Amino acid sequence: MVARIDLTPDLRIGGGALADLPDVLARLGARRPLIISDQILAQLGYVEQASALLRKAGIEAGLFLDTVPEPTVDCVEDGLASFRDGAFDALIALGGGSAIDTAKAMAALAASGGAMRDLKVPHIIGRGAVPVIAIPTTAGTGSEVTRVTVITDAATDEKMLCMGPGLMPAAAIVDYELTISLPPRATADTGIDALTHAIEAYVSRKANAFSDQQALGAMRLIAPNLRAAYHEPDNRAAREAMMAGATMAGMAFSNASVALVHGMSRPIGAFFHVPHGLSNAMLLPAITRWSVPAARERYAECARTMAIADAGLDDASACTRLIDELEALNAELSVPTLCEFGVEDARFEAVIETMAEQAEASGSPGNNPRIPTQAEMVALYREVWV
Ligand code: NAD
Repeated sequence: MVARIDLTPDLRIGGGALADLPDVLARLGARRPLIISDQILAQLGYVEQASALLRKAGIEAGLFLDTVPEPTVDCVEDGLASFRDGAFDALIALGGGSAIDTAKAMAALAASGGAMRDLKVPHIIGRGAVPVIAIPTTAGTGSEVTRVTVITDAATDEKMLCMGPGLMPAAAIVDYELTISLPPRATADTGIDALTHAIEAYVSRKANAFSDQQALGAMRLIAPNLRAAYHEPDNRAAREAMMAGATMAGMAFSNASVALVHGMSRPIGAFFHVPHGLSNAMLLPAITRWSVPAARERYAECARTMAIADAGLDDASACTRLIDELEALNAELSVPTLCEFGVEDARFEAVIETMAEQAEASGSPGNNPRIPTQAEMVALYREVWV
């Protein structure tokens, strides 16, 4: 198999990397950027921090501060209206996956015209109208290094997966200091999202030598640091490891794929507004248990890499340790079940078939080591609701 590897061409990583922003823009030849962010990050002072760095370099940035968590088509179109107003030549996405995905979708839609719906998979997005500079403030999605954006169509309650090399940011600034302010709940959700990316990329049918190394490296960084980042927000070493791990996990899945957890997670987010990382966390132990028989060696290697199984432990026992660890992690990080989150049984049953259909249509379940039928996905949804 030949793997196509796409990488963010200019990646700055480390504490204080935000200061590189003017240099990154200069290398791209951009002079008139639009910052894409949200009100929370503005209140935290990050937007002003970035704007001030640019002003010092003689660059006045425009602002679009209305991105929403789990971005919608409406939000992308609002952003696009601001973009078209200002003759901007670059987008600076400052925020979590939601701000970054909004900027990527804006650049893609500005280039293609038409409707966001036309850009979902299996369509391949070939180019964006202007370069996107991604500055993540969560250690989770890896969107700063992925050829992916996820946009919700609120009219149909569908989280649309959009892919293509044109969605790869032209540059990424990965500065863990921007994540110190992330509250424990969001730290847990985004951290489990990153761990899920690493595990799913490693067991994916599209895994390759490059993605394997990124996935294992990510697990090595995330597994021993997620609890510390959750319990001790100011633990800089844990934050630094989580940030590097999340970016590596993004490279891993973008150049392999995600699989069944993500496929089943997106419809939960779209129908019940469960944050993306949290819905992954709700699914991860059960889906891993169900998938293990089809890739025992690979899941066992995940357990060894996460240092929860010794090198000499047999594969079956290592897989049991992995499932136990994922359950223990959810308990310690207070991950609720769907029922505990407040999803009503009757409403869940009313859309469960549609969720399974949407999951299958996204293509992600087809990359899982064990490929489910729609009926099996329905049964798995019921298992995790309880
Ligand atoms: P998010 O971007 O939705 O942010 C969650 C909340 O945390 C927001 O209210 C935000 O303002 C706040 N926040 C962000 N950084 C903060 C900080 N440093 N301090 C305090 N508050 C902060 O969360 P996310 O998990 O990063 O992104 C989720 C989105 O990313 C979903 O839409 C998901 O589908 C998508 N996603 C995309 C990819 C990809 O490759 N493109 C991969 C996985 C997930």
